[in-house]
Amino acid sequence: MEKRELVIIGAGPAGLTAAIYGRRSGLDVLILEKGIPGGQINTTDEIENWPGVQHASGQELGDMFRKHAEKFKPEFRDSEVQGIEIKDGKKIVITDKGSIEAAAVLLATGASFRKQGCPGEAEFTGRGVSYCAVCDGAFFEDQEVAVIGGGNTAVEEGVYLTQFASKVYIIHRRDSFRADKIAVERALGDPKVQPIWDSVVEEIRGTEMVETLLLKNVKTGELSELPVSGVFVFIGNEPNVGFLKPLIDSGVLKTARGGWIKVNDRMETSIEGVFAAGDLIEKYLRQVVTATGDGATAAMAAYAYISEQVHLEGKLLEPEEVSAVFYSSVDQAQVRLAGEIEAVPQWNRVVLVDGYKNSRMAEKLQVQSLPCALKIKKGTVTKRLEISSATDLQGL
Ligand SMILES: Cc1cc2nc3c(=O)[nH]c(=O)nc-3n(C[C@H](O)[C@H](O)[C@H](O)COP(=O)(O)OP(=O)(O)OC[C@H]3O[C@@H](n4cnc5c(N)ncnc54)[C@H](O)[C@@H]3O)c2cc1C
Repeated sequence: MEKRELVIIGAGPAGLTAAIYGRRSGLDVLILEKGIPGGQINTTDEIENWPGVQHASGQELGDMFRKHAEKFKPEFRDSEVQGIEIKDGKKIVITDKGSIEAAAVLLATGASFRKQGCPGEAEFTGRGVSYCAVCDGAFFEDQEVAVIGGGNTAVEEGVYLTQFASKVYIIHRRDSFRADKIAVERALGDPKVQPIWDSVVEEIRGTEMVETLLLKNVKTGELSELPVSGVFVFIGNEPNVGFLKPLIDSGVLKTARGGWIKVNDRMETSIEGVFAAGDLIEKYLRQVVTATGDGATAAMAAYAYISEQVHLEGKLLEPEEVSAVFYSSVDQAQVRLAGEIEAVPQWNRVVLVDGYKNSRMAEKLQVQSLPCALKIKKGTVTKRLEISSATDLQGL
Protein backbone atom coordinates (compact mmCIF):
# COMPACT_ATOMS: atom_id res chain seq x y z
CA MET A 1 0.00 0.00 0.00
CA GLU A 2 1.16 3.55 -0.72
CA LYS A 3 2.66 5.14 2.44
CA ARG A 4 2.81 8.90 2.98
CA GLU A 5 3.64 11.25 5.85
CA LEU A 6 0.94 13.93 5.85
CA VAL A 7 -2.21 13.31 3.81
CA ILE A 8 -4.40 16.42 3.55
CA ILE A 9 -8.01 15.88 2.50
CA GLY A 10 -9.38 19.01 0.82
CA ALA A 11 -7.57 21.81 -1.00
CA GLY A 12 -9.51 24.79 0.35
CA PRO A 13 -7.82 27.61 2.28
CA ALA A 14 -7.19 25.32 5.29
CA GLY A 15 -5.71 22.43 3.30
CA LEU A 16 -3.59 24.65 1.04
CA THR A 17 -2.14 26.55 4.01
CA ALA A 18 -1.39 23.26 5.76
CA ALA A 19 0.39 22.10 2.60
CA ILE A 20 2.62 25.22 2.70
CA TYR A 21 3.48 24.75 6.37
CA GLY A 22 3.87 20.98 6.04
CA ARG A 23 6.25 21.20 3.10
CA ARG A 24 8.25 24.01 4.69
CA SER A 25 8.71 21.72 7.73
CA GLY A 26 10.13 19.07 5.42
CA LEU A 27 7.15 16.70 5.49
CA ASP A 28 6.14 14.59 2.52
CA VAL A 29 2.68 16.07 1.75
CA LEU A 30 -0.06 14.57 -0.39
CA ILE A 31 -3.16 16.72 -0.90
CA LEU A 32 -6.35 15.05 -2.12
CA GLU A 33 -9.04 17.20 -3.72
CA LYS A 34 -12.21 16.05 -5.43
CA GLY A 35 -13.06 19.42 -7.01
CA ILE A 36 -11.26 22.66 -7.79
CA PRO A 37 -8.42 23.69 -5.45
CA GLY A 38 -9.40 26.85 -3.60
CA GLY A 39 -12.56 25.37 -2.06
CA GLN A 40 -15.76 27.26 -1.33
CA ILE A 41 -14.38 30.69 -2.16
CA ASN A 42 -14.40 29.69 -5.82
CA THR A 43 -18.14 30.37 -5.69
CA THR A 44 -18.01 33.95 -4.45
CA ASP A 45 -17.39 37.09 -6.42
CA GLU A 46 -16.11 39.26 -3.61
CA ILE A 47 -13.58 38.78 -0.84
CA GLU A 48 -12.90 41.99 1.04
CA ASN A 49 -11.67 40.67 4.38
CA TRP A 50 -8.48 38.80 3.55
CA PRO A 51 -5.78 41.07 5.02
CA GLY A 52 -3.43 42.57 2.46
CA VAL A 53 -5.82 42.13 -0.46
CA GLN A 54 -8.47 44.82 -0.40
CA HIS A 55 -10.60 43.17 -3.04
CA ALA A 56 -10.42 39.94 -4.99
CA SER A 57 -12.84 37.48 -6.46
CA GLY A 58 -12.92 34.14 -4.65
CA GLN A 59 -11.44 32.46 -7.69
CA GLU A 60 -8.51 34.89 -7.78
CA LEU A 61 -7.76 34.32 -4.11
CA GLY A 62 -8.17 30.53 -4.41
CA ASP A 63 -5.77 30.59 -7.35
CA MET A 64 -3.21 32.58 -5.37
CA PHE A 65 -3.44 30.06 -2.50
CA ARG A 66 -3.01 27.13 -4.88
CA LYS A 67 -0.02 28.69 -6.65
CA HIS A 68 1.59 29.54 -3.31
CA ALA A 69 1.20 25.93 -2.12
CA GLU A 70 2.50 24.59 -5.45
CA LYS A 71 5.73 26.57 -4.96
CA PHE A 72 6.65 24.16 -2.15
CA LYS A 73 5.83 21.10 -4.26
CA PRO A 74 3.33 19.04 -2.30
CA GLU A 75 1.76 16.33 -4.45
CA PHE A 76 -1.75 17.32 -5.60
CA ARG A 77 -4.04 14.44 -6.52
CA ASP A 78 -7.46 14.79 -8.09
CA SER A 79 -9.26 12.26 -5.93
CA GLU A 80 -12.33 11.82 -3.73
CA VAL A 81 -11.85 10.40 -0.26
CA GLN A 82 -14.49 7.81 0.56
CA GLY A 83 -13.49 6.86 4.08
CA ILE A 84 -10.81 6.48 6.72
CA GLU A 85 -10.05 3.24 8.52
CA ILE A 86 -8.11 3.03 11.75
CA LYS A 87 -6.47 -0.39 12.06
CA ASP A 88 -4.04 -1.13 14.92
CA GLY A 89 -3.37 2.61 15.19
CA LYS A 90 -2.68 2.81 11.45
CA LYS A 91 -4.56 5.42 9.46
CA ILE A 92 -5.74 4.22 6.06
CA VAL A 93 -7.24 6.82 3.71
CA ILE A 94 -9.59 5.17 1.21
CA THR A 95 -9.99 7.06 -2.05
CA ASP A 96 -11.56 6.44 -5.44
CA LYS A 97 -8.00 5.87 -6.65
CA GLY A 98 -6.81 3.36 -4.03
CA SER A 99 -5.82 3.34 -0.37
CA ILE A 100 -3.00 5.23 1.31
CA GLU A 101 -1.43 4.64 4.71
CA ALA A 102 -0.71 8.00 6.34
CA ALA A 103 1.52 8.84 9.30
CA ALA A 104 -0.87 11.77 9.91
CA VAL A 105 -4.14 12.83 8.29
CA LEU A 106 -5.57 16.33 8.06
CA LEU A 107 -9.31 16.61 7.52
CA ALA A 108 -9.94 19.89 5.66
CA THR A 109 -13.06 19.11 3.67
CA GLY A 110 -14.89 22.31 4.63
CA ALA A 111 -18.62 22.77 4.68
CA SER A 112 -21.59 22.92 2.31
CA PHE A 113 -24.82 24.83 2.11
CA ARG A 114 -27.64 23.67 4.32
CA LYS A 115 -30.82 22.80 2.50
CA GLN A 116 -34.09 24.55 3.32
CA GLY A 117 -35.98 21.24 3.38
CA CYS A 118 -39.36 22.49 2.15
CA PRO A 119 -41.43 20.82 -0.58
CA GLY A 120 -40.25 21.83 -4.05
CA GLU A 121 -36.64 22.55 -3.04
CA ALA A 122 -35.13 19.32 -4.35
CA GLU A 123 -37.49 19.22 -7.33
CA PHE A 124 -36.56 22.72 -8.53
CA THR A 125 -32.83 22.65 -7.72
CA GLY A 126 -31.16 23.77 -10.94
CA ARG A 127 -34.55 24.98 -12.21
CA GLY A 128 -34.75 28.16 -10.20
CA VAL A 129 -33.48 26.97 -6.80
CA SER A 130 -29.78 27.80 -6.30
CA TYR A 131 -27.15 27.89 -3.55
CA CYS A 132 -24.65 30.04 -5.45
CA ALA A 133 -25.33 33.61 -6.59
CA VAL A 134 -22.08 33.87 -8.55
CA CYS A 135 -22.80 30.66 -10.43
CA ASP A 136 -26.47 31.28 -11.26
CA GLY A 137 -27.22 35.00 -10.72
CA ALA A 138 -26.81 35.92 -14.40
CA PHE A 139 -29.68 33.59 -15.37
CA PHE A 140 -32.12 35.99 -13.69
CA GLU A 141 -31.49 39.16 -15.73
CA ASP A 142 -34.42 41.58 -15.16
CA GLN A 143 -36.38 39.00 -13.17
CA GLU A 144 -37.53 39.00 -9.56
CA VAL A 145 -35.75 36.62 -7.21
CA ALA A 146 -35.79 35.75 -3.51
CA VAL A 147 -33.00 35.03 -1.07
CA ILE A 148 -33.70 32.95 2.03
CA GLY A 149 -31.62 33.77 5.11
CA GLY A 150 -30.46 36.62 7.31
CA GLY A 151 -26.71 36.15 7.85
CA ASN A 152 -23.77 37.66 5.98
CA THR A 153 -23.93 35.34 3.00
CA ALA A 154 -27.68 35.96 2.46
CA VAL A 155 -27.36 39.73 2.73
CA GLU A 156 -24.15 40.08 0.69
CA GLU A 157 -25.22 37.68 -2.02
CA GLY A 158 -28.64 39.43 -2.10
CA VAL A 159 -26.90 42.71 -2.96
CA TYR A 160 -24.72 40.90 -5.52
CA LEU A 161 -27.87 39.63 -7.24
CA THR A 162 -29.16 43.18 -7.78
CA GLN A 163 -26.76 43.58 -10.72
CA PHE A 164 -28.89 41.04 -12.60
CA ALA A 165 -32.33 40.86 -11.00
CA SER A 166 -34.92 43.63 -11.14
CA LYS A 167 -35.89 42.93 -7.51
CA VAL A 168 -34.36 40.85 -4.70
CA TYR A 169 -36.59 39.86 -1.78
CA ILE A 170 -34.67 38.71 1.30
CA ILE A 171 -36.91 36.42 3.32
CA HIS A 172 -35.88 36.14 6.95
CA ARG A 173 -37.58 34.41 9.87
CA ARG A 174 -36.73 37.27 12.26
CA ASP A 175 -37.30 41.03 12.15
CA SER A 176 -33.64 42.02 11.66
CA PHE A 177 -30.62 40.58 9.89
CA ARG A 178 -27.79 38.78 11.73
CA ALA A 179 -25.22 40.04 9.19
CA ASP A 180 -22.46 42.65 9.79
CA LYS A 181 -23.64 46.25 10.12
CA ILE A 182 -21.90 47.36 6.88
CA ALA A 183 -23.47 44.53 4.87
CA VAL A 184 -26.92 45.26 6.32
CA GLU A 185 -26.64 48.99 5.59
CA ARG A 186 -25.57 48.27 2.02
CA ALA A 187 -28.51 45.90 1.50
CA LEU A 188 -31.18 48.07 3.10
CA GLY A 189 -29.90 51.11 1.19
CA ASP A 190 -30.28 49.34 -2.15
CA PRO A 191 -33.59 50.23 -3.83
CA LYS A 192 -33.77 46.79 -5.48
CA VAL A 193 -33.57 44.93 -2.15
CA GLN A 194 -36.77 44.35 -0.20
CA PRO A 195 -36.68 42.42 3.08
CA ILE A 196 -39.63 40.26 4.03
CA TRP A 197 -39.40 39.93 7.81
CA ASP A 198 -40.75 37.26 10.17
CA SER A 199 -41.38 34.85 7.32
CA VAL A 200 -40.46 31.34 6.23
CA VAL A 201 -40.85 29.56 2.90
CA GLU A 202 -43.38 26.75 3.24
CA GLU A 203 -43.22 25.56 -0.36
CA ILE A 204 -41.48 26.30 -3.65
CA ARG A 205 -44.01 26.05 -6.49
CA GLY A 206 -43.90 25.97 -10.27
CA THR A 207 -44.38 23.81 -13.33
CA GLU A 208 -41.14 23.58 -15.34
CA MET A 209 -39.32 26.30 -13.38
CA VAL A 210 -39.88 28.09 -10.05
CA GLU A 211 -42.90 30.39 -10.28
CA THR A 212 -43.98 31.26 -6.73
CA LEU A 213 -43.06 30.80 -3.08
CA LEU A 214 -45.64 30.00 -0.44
CA LEU A 215 -44.70 32.17 2.55
CA LYS A 216 -45.84 31.94 6.14
CA ASN A 217 -45.60 34.83 8.56
CA VAL A 218 -44.25 33.20 11.76
CA LYS A 219 -45.89 35.83 13.98
CA THR A 220 -49.41 35.89 12.48
CA GLY A 221 -49.49 32.47 10.77
CA GLU A 222 -50.75 34.21 7.63
CA LEU A 223 -49.96 32.50 4.30
CA SER A 224 -49.17 34.41 1.10
CA GLU A 225 -47.75 33.75 -2.35
CA LEU A 226 -44.72 35.59 -3.74
CA PRO A 227 -44.15 35.36 -7.50
CA VAL A 228 -40.38 34.95 -8.26
CA SER A 229 -38.34 33.22 -10.97
CA GLY A 230 -35.49 32.17 -8.70
CA VAL A 231 -34.76 31.44 -5.06
CA PHE A 232 -31.31 31.45 -3.50
CA VAL A 233 -30.99 29.52 -0.23
CA PHE A 234 -28.38 30.88 2.20
CA ILE A 235 -29.36 29.49 5.59
CA GLY A 236 -26.04 28.29 6.85
CA ASN A 237 -23.63 25.46 6.37
CA GLU A 238 -23.03 21.89 7.42
CA PRO A 239 -19.69 20.08 7.66
CA ASN A 240 -18.56 17.79 4.81
CA VAL A 241 -18.11 14.72 6.98
CA GLY A 242 -20.24 12.11 5.18
CA PHE A 243 -17.16 9.99 4.40
CA LEU A 244 -16.36 9.87 8.13
CA LYS A 245 -19.79 8.49 9.14
CA PRO A 246 -18.61 5.10 10.48
CA LEU A 247 -15.97 6.78 12.69
CA ILE A 248 -18.49 9.38 13.90
CA ASP A 249 -21.33 6.89 14.50
CA SER A 250 -19.04 4.59 16.50
CA GLY A 251 -17.99 7.55 18.69
CA VAL A 252 -14.31 7.19 17.71
CA LEU A 253 -14.30 10.59 16.03
CA LYS A 254 -15.95 13.05 18.38
CA THR A 255 -18.25 15.73 16.96
CA ALA A 256 -20.33 18.56 18.37
CA ARG A 257 -24.03 19.15 17.64
CA GLY A 258 -24.51 19.53 13.92
CA GLY A 259 -21.62 17.18 13.14
CA TRP A 260 -18.83 19.77 13.49
CA ILE A 261 -15.56 18.00 14.37
CA LYS A 262 -14.20 18.60 17.84
CA VAL A 263 -10.53 19.59 18.05
CA ASN A 264 -8.21 20.98 20.69
CA ASP A 265 -6.01 24.04 20.22
CA ARG A 266 -3.53 21.96 18.22
CA MET A 267 -6.31 20.90 15.85
CA GLU A 268 -6.02 17.33 17.14
CA THR A 269 -9.21 15.30 16.82
CA SER A 270 -10.14 12.48 19.18
CA ILE A 271 -8.15 10.09 16.94
CA GLU A 272 -4.41 10.07 17.46
CA GLY A 273 -2.63 11.39 14.37
CA VAL A 274 -5.82 12.71 12.77
CA PHE A 275 -6.11 16.50 12.68
CA ALA A 276 -8.90 18.76 11.40
CA ALA A 277 -8.85 22.37 10.22
CA GLY A 278 -11.12 24.94 8.65
CA ASP A 279 -14.86 25.13 8.25
CA LEU A 280 -15.60 21.55 9.31
CA ILE A 281 -14.47 22.00 12.93
CA GLU A 282 -16.55 23.24 15.84
CA LYS A 283 -15.72 26.95 16.08
CA TYR A 284 -17.10 30.47 16.29
CA LEU A 285 -16.11 32.02 12.94
CA ARG A 286 -15.99 30.18 9.59
CA GLN A 287 -13.98 32.38 7.26
CA VAL A 288 -10.89 32.19 5.05
CA VAL A 289 -8.73 33.89 7.63
CA THR A 290 -9.64 31.42 10.38
CA ALA A 291 -9.41 28.40 8.06
CA THR A 292 -5.86 29.33 7.05
CA GLY A 293 -4.86 29.81 10.71
CA ASP A 294 -6.28 26.40 11.57
CA GLY A 295 -4.44 24.85 8.62
CA ALA A 296 -1.11 26.28 9.77
CA THR A 297 -1.63 25.08 13.34
CA ALA A 298 -2.70 21.62 12.18
CA ALA A 299 0.33 21.21 9.90
CA MET A 300 2.75 22.18 12.66
CA ALA A 301 1.00 19.89 15.13
CA ALA A 302 1.09 17.08 12.56
CA TYR A 303 4.80 17.74 12.06
CA ALA A 304 5.36 17.52 15.84
CA TYR A 305 3.27 14.34 15.95
CA ILE A 306 5.16 12.68 13.12
CA SER A 307 8.54 13.71 14.60
CA GLU A 308 7.42 12.37 17.95
CA GLN A 309 6.23 9.13 16.41
CA VAL A 310 9.21 8.50 14.21
CA HIS A 311 12.00 9.84 16.36
CA LEU A 312 10.76 9.00 19.82
CA GLU A 313 9.47 5.56 18.92
CA GLY A 314 12.87 4.79 17.43
CA LYS A 315 14.68 6.12 20.50
CA LEU A 316 12.39 4.83 23.24
CA LEU A 317 10.44 1.81 22.08
CA GLU A 318 12.76 -0.07 19.76
CA PRO A 319 16.11 -0.48 21.68
CA GLU A 320 16.78 -3.56 23.89
CA GLU A 321 17.07 -1.27 26.91
CA VAL A 322 16.97 2.48 27.37
CA SER A 323 16.76 5.00 30.20
CA ALA A 324 14.68 8.12 29.69
CA VAL A 325 13.76 11.24 31.65
CA PHE A 326 10.48 13.00 30.90
CA TYR A 327 10.51 16.66 31.97
CA SER A 328 8.45 19.78 31.28
CA SER A 329 9.94 22.52 29.11
CA VAL A 330 7.58 25.09 30.66
CA ASP A 331 8.87 24.51 34.20
CA GLN A 332 12.15 26.33 34.84
CA ALA A 333 13.25 23.94 37.61
CA GLN A 334 12.69 20.95 35.30
CA VAL A 335 14.54 22.66 32.44
CA ARG A 336 17.48 23.15 34.85
CA LEU A 337 17.24 19.49 35.89
CA ALA A 338 17.37 18.39 32.23
CA GLY A 339 20.45 20.61 31.73
CA GLU A 340 22.04 19.11 34.84
CA ILE A 341 21.49 15.54 33.54
CA GLU A 342 22.84 16.49 30.11
CA ALA A 343 26.01 17.90 31.67
CA VAL A 344 26.95 14.70 33.53
CA PRO A 345 28.93 12.32 31.26
CA GLN A 346 27.63 9.33 33.26
CA TRP A 347 24.09 10.10 32.06
CA ASN A 348 24.77 10.97 28.46
CA ARG A 349 22.93 7.87 27.27
CA VAL A 350 19.75 8.94 29.03
CA VAL A 351 17.13 10.09 26.50
CA LEU A 352 15.67 13.43 27.55
CA VAL A 353 12.07 13.87 26.46
CA ASP A 354 10.04 17.06 26.74
CA GLY A 355 6.92 15.44 28.19
CA TYR A 356 4.98 18.69 27.88
CA LYS A 357 5.35 18.82 24.09
CA ASN A 358 5.34 15.06 23.59
CA SER A 359 2.27 14.39 25.66
CA ARG A 360 1.12 11.46 23.52
CA MET A 361 4.35 9.56 24.15
CA ALA A 362 4.12 10.43 27.86
CA GLU A 363 0.57 9.06 27.89
CA LYS A 364 1.63 5.96 25.98
CA LEU A 365 4.27 5.22 28.63
CA GLN A 366 1.82 6.12 31.41
CA VAL A 367 3.90 8.98 32.75
CA GLN A 368 1.55 10.52 35.32
CA SER A 369 3.63 13.47 36.48
CA LEU A 370 6.77 15.31 35.43
CA PRO A 371 9.69 14.92 35.93
CA CYS A 372 9.87 11.15 35.74
CA ALA A 373 12.66 8.70 34.93
CA LEU A 374 11.94 5.40 33.16
CA LYS A 375 13.80 2.22 32.33
CA ILE A 376 12.30 0.77 29.14
CA LYS A 377 13.07 -2.70 27.78
CA LYS A 378 11.92 -3.36 24.21
CA GLY A 379 9.07 -0.91 24.55
CA THR A 380 7.95 -2.02 28.03
CA VAL A 381 8.52 0.14 31.10
CA THR A 382 10.31 -1.97 33.71
CA LYS A 383 10.99 0.75 36.24
CA ARG A 384 9.77 4.28 36.94
CA LEU A 385 11.21 6.78 39.35
CA GLU A 386 10.24 10.25 40.55
CA ILE A 387 13.36 12.41 40.47
CA SER A 388 14.33 15.86 41.67
CA SER A 389 18.09 15.82 40.93
CA ALA A 390 20.52 14.12 38.54
CA THR A 391 21.87 11.95 41.35
CA ASP A 392 18.40 10.39 41.81
CA LEU A 393 19.05 8.58 38.51
CA GLN A 394 21.36 6.22 40.46
CA GLY A 395 18.16 4.44 41.52
CA LEU A 396 17.20 3.60 37.94
C1 LIG B 1 -20.72 32.22 -1.22
C2 LIG B 1 -19.65 32.29 -0.19
C3 LIG B 1 -19.05 33.50 0.12
C4 LIG B 1 -18.02 33.56 1.07
N1 LIG B 1 -17.43 34.76 1.33
C5 LIG B 1 -16.38 34.83 2.18
C6 LIG B 1 -15.69 36.07 2.40
O1 LIG B 1 -16.02 37.08 1.81
N2 LIG B 1 -14.66 36.07 3.27
C7 LIG B 1 -14.26 34.96 3.95
O2 LIG B 1 -13.31 35.01 4.72
N3 LIG B 1 -14.92 33.77 3.77
C8 LIG B 1 -15.96 33.69 2.91
N4 LIG B 1 -16.62 32.50 2.74
C9 LIG B 1 -16.28 31.36 3.61
C10 LIG B 1 -14.99 30.68 3.14
O3 LIG B 1 -15.14 30.33 1.79
C11 LIG B 1 -14.73 29.44 3.99
O4 LIG B 1 -14.66 29.82 5.35
C12 LIG B 1 -13.44 28.76 3.61
O5 LIG B 1 -13.43 28.45 2.25
C13 LIG B 1 -13.23 27.50 4.42
O6 LIG B 1 -12.08 26.88 3.99
P1 LIG B 1 -11.84 25.32 4.20
O7 LIG B 1 -10.49 25.05 3.63
O8 LIG B 1 -12.12 24.93 5.58
O9 LIG B 1 -12.96 24.57 3.35
P2 LIG B 1 -13.48 24.67 1.86
O10 LIG B 1 -13.16 25.98 1.26
O11 LIG B 1 -14.89 24.25 1.92
O12 LIG B 1 -12.62 23.57 1.09
C14 LIG B 1 -12.80 22.20 1.32
C15 LIG B 1 -12.33 21.43 0.10
O13 LIG B 1 -12.41 20.03 0.38
C16 LIG B 1 -12.87 19.35 -0.77
N5 LIG B 1 -13.49 18.10 -0.35
C17 LIG B 1 -14.63 17.94 0.35
N6 LIG B 1 -14.88 16.64 0.55
C18 LIG B 1 -13.88 15.95 -0.03
C19 LIG B 1 -13.57 14.56 -0.17
N7 LIG B 1 -14.36 13.61 0.37
N8 LIG B 1 -12.47 14.20 -0.85
C20 LIG B 1 -11.63 15.15 -1.40
N9 LIG B 1 -11.89 16.48 -1.31
C21 LIG B 1 -12.98 16.88 -0.62
C22 LIG B 1 -13.84 20.34 -1.40
O14 LIG B 1 -14.00 20.06 -2.79
C23 LIG B 1 -13.18 21.68 -1.15
O15 LIG B 1 -12.33 22.08 -2.20
C24 LIG B 1 -17.62 32.40 1.77
C25 LIG B 1 -18.22 31.17 1.46
C26 LIG B 1 -19.22 31.12 0.49
C27 LIG B 1 -19.84 29.79 0.15
